[in-house]
Amino acid sequence: MTGYDVAVIGLGGMGGAAAYRLAGRGLRVVGLERFGPAHDRGSSHGDSRIIRQAYFEHPAYVPLLRRAYELWRETERASGADLLTITGGLFIGPPDAVTVTGALASARQWGLEYAYLDAAAIARRFPTFRPGPDDVAVYEPYAGYVVPEAAVRANLDLAAAAGADLRFGERVTGWAADGDGVRVTTAAGAYDADRLVIAAGAWAPGLLAELNLPLTVERQVMHWFQVDDPAAFAAPGHPIYVWEDATGDQVYGFGVRPGDTAAKVAFFRRPNATDPDHVDRTVHNAEIAEIRDHMATRIPGLRAHAAATTCLYTLTPDHHFVLGPHPARPNVTIAAGFSGHGFKFVPVIGEILADLATTGGTSHDIGLFDPRRAFDTPSPLSRP
Ligand SMILES: Cc1cc2nc3c(=O)[nH]c(=O)nc-3n(C[C@H](O)[C@H](O)[C@H](O)COP(=O)(O)OP(=O)(O)OC[C@H]3O[C@@H](n4cnc5c(N)ncnc54)[C@H](O)[C@@H]3O)c2cc1C
Repeated sequence: MTGYDVAVIGLGGMGGAAAYRLAGRGLRVVGLERFGPAHDRGSSHGDSRIIRQAYFEHPAYVPLLRRAYELWRETERASGADLLTITGGLFIGPPDAVTVTGALASARQWGLEYAYLDAAAIARRFPTFRPGPDDVAVYEPYAGYVVPEAAVRANLDLAAAAGADLRFGERVTGWAADGDGVRVTTAAGAYDADRLVIAAGAWAPGLLAELNLPLTVERQVMHWFQVDDPAAFAAPGHPIYVWEDATGDQVYGFGVRPGDTAAKVAFFRRPNATDPDHVDRTVHNAEIAEIRDHMATRIPGLRAHAAATTCLYTLTPDHHFVLGPHPARPNVTIAAGFSGHGFKFVPVIGEILADLATTGGTSHDIGLFDPRRAFDTPSPLSRP
């Protein structure tokens, strides 16, 4: 035995946070990552990630979000990095849109501060937006964004400072667990530990094949546009937004971050299944035209297309996470299927993974994410 307490496969958003939390509790941790620190081949890159509490996906996320906000600030203090910016957030759509009704349900159930705005009020308070006559919005003052690359680096630096043995450029080719512990195999060798955390993002289906989880990996595109009025678009004054149309299609976006010159916008989801090892990284003209046309009437101050990049989602049918003990291997904990909305939770997922890997349980309510659930309730926002 090499004498590790815990091995972590994958040092992206979730695995990096788990390594930090575990090493911070005094455990001997080895982390294995196939690429470099804070790389752009997985799901945790692209300058910004929305964070919000009036959570339209399900009210059960709200307590986790409250803890995530605390831990984002704690990670900032510990690392000295600037990670979380509060801008306020608009969840826009027809009154019966999931983006609106779901945000309202979470805000009311948990007593969150919010304002309900009609189209005229949206346009008056937020002049870069041109809502349709039937659009309404839930405005949440504590929404904002986190910075994925800086956050991944902060967690990895903190993990290393706490003594974690982090190995990059080392791809895990297999793992095995029995009553004595776990063995993780890479091209370079084998690592023995008492327990294992698997946080492999888009590569989870391969590493968790025996569980047959209904995970789909999708290629998504983020776009950046120049703006006509940098002052009007400047974050933190400009809110983040999620905007649903009458067909249930959602786009989301940000103002222009300090130091940047362009505003990021993306469709929340474009069904486009891919193999994470063979992703089409080219962004095509038709994709640029589609989002430009979609935004032209909604935020006309977005001008020339400035940049675009691809990123991977790992979706479950109900769009809820897969988080808990491996159903067949009690010394293995799994974190997967973050379904395009996991980054804002990174520090609290790290805490939960550390709880599960050390005690087998957690005081956080993670019932919604049970890896053994039936997965038979499709998300109201799912598209074929
Ligand atoms: C375009 C886009 C926009 C998004 N917007 C938001 C948002 O606004 N708000 C939000 O909250 N979330 C958002 N998300 C989702 C969020 O970013 C993801 O849920 C989160 O990054 C997932 O983290 P992860 O740790 O599971 O995956 P990753 O960060 O990809 O980490 C998995 C790691 O495992 C490594 N790995 C895999 N297999 C192996 C192996 N065999 N050996 C060694 N290492 C391995 C990978 O290299 C990778 O580094 C967005 C995602 C995308 C793609």
